[in-house]
Amino acid sequence: ATPLLRASAVTRHYKVAGGTLQALRGVDLDVYKGQTLGLVGESGCGKSTLAKLLLGMETPTSGTVLVGGRPVADHGRLERARLIQPVFQDPYSSLNPRMTAAAIIGATLEVRGERAAARARKVADIADAVGLPPHLLNAYPGQLSGGQRQRVAIARALVGEPEILVCDEPTSALDVSVQSQILNLLSGLRRDFNLTMVLISHNLAVVHHLVDRVAVMYLGAVVEEGATDDVFNAPRHPYTAALLGSVLPPTPGIGLPDIPLSGEFPSPLQPPSGCAFHPRCPRAKDACAREAPRMAGAPHRHACHFPLEEIPS
Ligand code: SF4
Ligand code: MG
Repeated sequence: ATPLLRASAVTRHYKVAGGTLQALRGVDLDVYKGQTLGLVGESGCGKSTLAKLLLGMETPTSGTVLVGGRPVADHGRLERARLIQPVFQDPYSSLNPRMTAAAIIGATLEVRGERAAARARKVADIADAVGLPPHLLNAYPGQLSGGQRQRVAIARALVGEPEILVCDEPTSALDVSVQSQILNLLSGLRRDFNLTMVLISHNLAVVHHLVDRVAVMYLGAVVEEGATDDVFNAPRHPYTAALLGSVLPPTPGIGLPDIPLSGEFPSPLQPPSGCAFHPRCPRAKDACAREAPRMAGAPHRHACHFPLEEIPS
């Protein structure tokens, strides 16, 4: 099968004062229909840049991004909107404050030329599906709570029945009490709408129970990728183990190697030579500073010269 989303050797560089910021340094990633992929890593690792490239909001410096088997830029705007839709972190800044919830949700359908009656019906249906009470359809974003605004943003993304949803930190701006409601909602919608989903989060606990596969990014590259349980229970890349160890409580029976996450996150203006993790890696040897490891292995891939032991199953 062809993947619904494919990034091949994708780089994205930005000219900034003081040099070139290497936001993405060669990403290879496939997402197949119906899969949910979690994209994790510390802030600044390139997750959001990759999301924008998948959505066609930015173009790669080199490499290709295919959506539905074609370069994302080859799709017309409407066609792309039918394929892939975003949900962003801050539902306040992403919603027009002068439009009602109904108008925001229905705008895509209006662009497609759908009649008012059909639009109103679809808007009501999707509002119901995302748990937005009917009377709030006449409200403006400023009159809604953070959770309600995110429901509007999700309804807007889904009303045109896209195949793929890219959610970039969809709960990070919300109160803790609301976060799990929105995550449960996304999980249910994913099933009901047969969605393919990319869920970006710096919070590993968020993605753990929601995604089939997880890709770990470090300084503009994917360093490990595999089935969620494989990556969480038996990480092969030292960075993944360090990241997991820093956030997850120790699980009895699962001996996560104790790798401290010490040292500074390096600058994307001057990525370290060889393996970008080598200045922070307790397993680093001379070769690590000289030669960049390539992604290897399938279906559990990792990019490390001296990976952690595979746990015998
Ligand atoms: Fe550590 Fe070397 Fe593996 Fe990089 S390649 S993660 S420095 S052991
Ligand atoms: Mg981000």
